[in-house]
Amino acid sequence: MEPSELLARARSRAANPSDPLDTLAAARLLSEELNRDADALLDLAVHDARAAGTSWTAIGDRLGVSKQAARKRFAKPFKHPFAARRTRREAACSFCRKPPGPRVHMVHGEAGRICADCVALAGEIVADLKAKSRN
Ligand SMILES: [Zn+2]
Repeated sequence: MEPSELLARARSRAANPSDPLDTLAAARLLSEELNRDADALLDLAVHDARAAGTSWTAIGDRLGVSKQAARKRFAKPFKHPFAARRTRREAACSFCRKPPGPRVHMVHGEAGRICADCVALAGEIVADLKAKSRN
């Protein structure tokens, strides 16, 4: 797809398509989406090559990397049976430990997450503190 077509797609997703910064924000999200798709494409092609018995050396050759680099990037790491549960716990609200879910709105930050309930509670606490400091 041409970059101009991608920009048009980003613009169509922008909150306000006539605002260049809204379009830029939408373009950044679209770019991340495309990167994930590109990674998934390579993962799938490497998976198929491995399933067909292709060596890591040959795969690395085609990707222009060493056999070790290809294996490191594409070999599926060992998944511990409790890994999914641990991942879910790590995705929980950093304040109340509520796990993520379709009806749980979560704001993600650099070092953690906060659910909508905790955001509301924090807002009340801050409003209280502000009211007290005014008196
Ligand atoms: Zn919470």
